[in-house]
Amino acid sequence: MSYDPSNIFGKILRGELPAHKVYEDETALVMMDIFPQSRGHTLIIPRAPSRNLLDADPAALAGVMPLVQRVARAAKAATGADGIRLAQFNEAPAGQTVFHLHFHVIPVYEGVPLAAHAGGKADDADLSELAKAIAAAL
Ligand code: 5GP
Repeated sequence: MSYDPSNIFGKILRGELPAHKVYEDETALVMMDIFPQSRGHTLIIPRAPSRNLLDADPAALAGVMPLVQRVARAAKAATGADGIRLAQFNEAPAGQTVFHLHFHVIPVYEGVPLAAHAGGKADDADLSELAKAIAAAL
């Protein structure tokens, strides 16, 4: 299957839809997941168009991974989480719902189970505060 630019993250990257942005540069956009699996669930979206890992340009992957690490460190520091889960899904049977490559940074808190993937919507004010806190820790 080929990349379809009408996906929701494509629209966010083009500024056609709003997002709680944490950071952006010429290679990637970082934003809060609005249906978070935990407090501080953050998405890193490379600008280079690909559906997922399987069709991605290796150079784009190499370019974005240092930012994934920075965001993981910043999310842990900003939330006080006990650990970080890194997730990335490829095609619908594997759990992918938005078909533009992205990485999930999911803070994990000792003894607190993660919410369902793409479950309930978070409060906008909370997401906005978390975006600022993670940006400050980057
Ligand atoms: P996937 O299942 O494709 O790996 O993950 C897509 C993620 O995007 C899910 O975790 C879901 O909660 C999140 N998501 C879906 N729609 C939106 C949206 O409009 N804005 C943001 N910020 N996240 C979204």
